[in-house]
Amino acid sequence: MTAEIIDGKKLAETIKQEIKTAIEARLQADLPIPGLATVLVGNDPASRTYVANKIKTTAALGIRSYSYELEEDCPQEKLLDLIHELNENPDVQGILVQLPLPDHLSEDEVLHAISPKKDVDGIHPYNAGLLTRKYSEPLFYPCTPSGVIRMIQSVCPDISGMKAAVIGRSSIVGMPTAMMLSRCNATPTICHSYTKNLDEICRESDIIVAAAGSPGLIRGNWIKPGAIIIDVGINHIPDESKPRGYRLVGDVEFEEAVKYAGAISPVPGGVGPMTIAMLMANTLKAIEYR
Ligand code: NAP
Repeated sequence: MTAEIIDGKKLAETIKQEIKTAIEARLQADLPIPGLATVLVGNDPASRTYVANKIKTTAALGIRSYSYELEEDCPQEKLLDLIHELNENPDVQGILVQLPLPDHLSEDEVLHAISPKKDVDGIHPYNAGLLTRKYSEPLFYPCTPSGVIRMIQSVCPDISGMKAAVIGRSSIVGMPTAMMLSRCNATPTICHSYTKNLDEICRESDIIVAAAGSPGLIRGNWIKPGAIIIDVGINHIPDESKPRGYRLVGDVEFEEAVKYAGAISPVPGGVGPMTIAMLMANTLKAIEYR
C-alpha cells in the first residue's frame, strides 16, 4: 500500500482563493476590509521568516497589514501598551503576536492582553476555554489545529467514532487539536513525554496527529494500516547539501510511514501552509466582531 499524500499547500491555496474572492466582494460592495497586525519581538530568524510569510500572504489576499517590530530587550510594559493600542484601533481586526517571545517577557500576560475579539490565533484563554465547553463556540478556533482538522476531513469527511492519537499537549497545538477532534466525535488520546507505550497507542489509532517536535519519533511500523497521519512537527536537520545548510523534517518517519498509512501529510508542504491559510480565514471572520 502507498499512502495518499495530503497536499497542504494545494488545500491552503483553495482556502486562500476563497478568502481573496470574499475580500474582493467586500471591496465591490464598499464594505470594510479586515486588517491584521503582526507583532514581532526580537531577532529570532525563524520567527522573522514566519511573520514575513504571514505579511506576504495578507497582502496577496487583499487584507490590510500592520507590521510592528520591537527590539529584543523590549520591556513588558511597552509590548502591553502596543497591544492595548491595537485593541482600540478600529482598522485592526486581528492581532498576531509571534511566539515564542524573548525569555524576559510573560507570554501569558501578553496573550491575556489581546482582545478575544481580535485573537485570530485562537489562543486567548477565553477562546481556549470556550473550546473545551461542549455547547459553546469560541470566537476563533486556533489556526494549526483548524488546519489539521481540515486536512483530515479532506480525506475523511466523517471521523466520528474513530480513535485518534495526538502526540503533544501544548496550548497552541496538541491540546486544542484533541478538543477539536473530540468536537468532530472522534476519540482522542493525548500523549506527551511521560506517556508509556506510545507505539501501542499509535498502533490502535485510526488517526495520528504528531506534534512533538521530535524528528522521526513516529515509526512507520507503529502505524495501523490505512490510518490518517498528520505531521505537525517542524525539525531542522543539518544538511550541507542544502543551500540553507539544513532540511526540514517532521515527527513521522515519512519514507516508512507511507507504506502503512492510508493518507499522510508531508513536511514541508503539509500543515505549515494550512496554518497560514486558517489565520487568514480567522482574520476575515474577525470583521464580524468589529
Ligand atoms: P511544544 O510546546 O514543545 O510541545 C511539544 C509536546 O510534545 C509536549 O507536550 C511534549 O510533552 C511532547 N513531546 C515531546 N517529545 C515527546 C516524545 N518523545 N514523546 C511524546 N511526547 C513528546 O511544541 P509545539 O509548539 O506544540 O509544537 C510541536 C511541533 O509542531 C514543533 O516541531 C513545532 O515546530 C511544530 N509546529 C508546527 C506548526 C505548523 O504550522 N506546521 C505550528 C506550530 C508548531 P511534555 O508536555 O511532557 O513536555
